[in-house]
Amino acid sequence: MAETVFDKIIRKEIPADIVYEDEQTLAFKDINPQAPTHVLVIPKKQIETIADINESDAPLIGQLFTTAAQIAENLGLAEDGYRLVINHGERGGQTVQHLHIHILGGRAMTWPPG
Ligand code: AMP
Repeated sequence: MAETVFDKIIRKEIPADIVYEDEQTLAFKDINPQAPTHVLVIPKKQIETIADINESDAPLIGQLFTTAAQIAENLGLAEDGYRLVINHGERGGQTVQHLHIHILGGRAMTWPPG
């Protein structure tokens, strides 16, 4: 499995603006924010895409979503609302091959997305 920039962030080999960390998950600000608040929530386990999630990962994936919701709450996004995004593949716009949830907030989101 190929290493990504996110593995380097997990190992603290390159800097990131970390907003949350526990044994299984890490959350940090996106380097190229698409909204006033743009945070990425990732599992520390190397899972490349949403298609690579195994049944045994179910607790970890559940934790990823509860963590994302808690971070959104802590960042003051919950009342006005926010968006969670997971990109997959070329058409979906995935550029980093390490599973991540985007938390986007601080502005009104459009639908359908571009
Ligand atoms: P995606 O296009 O869904 O794969 O999202 C990858 C995201 O990672 C993009 O929004 C990038 O801006 C972000 N990103 C890439 N490198 C870094 C980095 N070193 N620190 C923080 N965010 C990054």
